[in-house]
Amino acid sequence: MTTRQLQSLARQHGTPIVVVDHSVLRRNYAEFRRHLPKVQAYYAVKANSDPAIIRTLFEAGASFDVASVAEFMLVYELIKHLPPRQRQDFIWDKIIYANPTKPKETLQALDQYKPLVTYDNPHELQKIKAYAPHAGLVLRLRVANTGSQCELSSKFGCDPGEAVDLIVAAFKLGLVVEGISFHVGSQCTNFENFVQAMNAAAAVMKEARERGHEIKILDIGGGFPARYNKHVRPFSELARVINAELTRLFPPDIEILAEPGRFLVATAATAIARIIGKAIRDGKPCYYIDDSVYHTFSGIIFDHCQYPLKAFKRGKPEVSAVFGQTCDGLDTLSQSELLPDLDIEDLVYAENIGAYSNASATWFNGFPPAKVVHVNQ
Ligand SMILES: *Cc1c(COP(=O)(O)O)cnc(C)c1O
Repeated sequence: MTTRQLQSLARQHGTPIVVVDHSVLRRNYAEFRRHLPKVQAYYAVKANSDPAIIRTLFEAGASFDVASVAEFMLVYELIKHLPPRQRQDFIWDKIIYANPTKPKETLQALDQYKPLVTYDNPHELQKIKAYAPHAGLVLRLRVANTGSQCELSSKFGCDPGEAVDLIVAAFKLGLVVEGISFHVGSQCTNFENFVQAMNAAAAVMKEARERGHEIKILDIGGGFPARYNKHVRPFSELARVINAELTRLFPPDIEILAEPGRFLVATAATAIARIIGKAIRDGKPCYYIDDSVYHTFSGIIFDHCQYPLKAFKRGKPEVSAVFGQTCDGLDTLSQSELLPDLDIEDLVYAENIGAYSNASATWFNGFPPAKVVHVNQ
């Protein structure tokens, strides 16, 4: 989007807004598929669950990783018009329920769809047996998350040493383990994590095969880094590493899926906010905007992500502070943003803010989340 287009949308819709460019969603999805042609992409809905985003990715050919009943139903909406037989085939092709811990009510609600669900411990296995006996299983491994922006390995995944026992235990209960999955941590710029994880998964599959259980699906999870800046190496480089390991470690007929969230949506959205207050504190310009870390900029807190703020106005950059609209001190977007001298009513914008941003916006302090504007749908 050009700065002229962004300003015109802000004039038309007011502020704060989040502009989602669907041509970027389609481009990111196509890039993923082009570089990893053997891998089906299951978009991780939690990154941004806007139904229009889900629809565009669905139409582009994506499948989906969901982690709650509500997310499951958002995707199921799109496939439920299909005839029953095709719909059944569709479930595994189109949806994986990738939250390893599920309350029994969730399992009960999902069982009728015969879903593919993940697990990583014996307690979960007992629950699945009791409440969703028709589910197919995917075992989640704990793998290295070194250097990833968001760590997941302390919360999820079984130790590789326990993996085969957990597979055997599932079959003993009359369940079927279809796949192995892992997650290398979100915004994983350390490609070695993927290499190590694929090697661990291959070792587990080999041992399971020796004990009579053929695993058909490899799920390489999420973590594919969005190009927030030039320091993030291009996706093609990571894909080259992944493709080489896939060929080296796994039989050619294995089904491979991935769960990219951030990679598909981060670069597709731009937030635009308006300066609603200004002060000079200790000689530093301080700006107050009509969005906040409780709203579109929630990724600063929850996602450990910084979004450089830019002004449409030109001028000599000065180190400035930017605060959100709420009455809380935590609501600080930046203590050192380079901005020209701005006035109340001027606009600022932040690019690459499509993932883990408005998805975790709240109504804190009575301020509603920013309006989402879809373009090139
Ligand atoms: C959040 C999540 C993803 C998406 O991760 P990204 O880093 O956004 O690609 C994928 N799989 C699972 C199980 C997740 O929880």
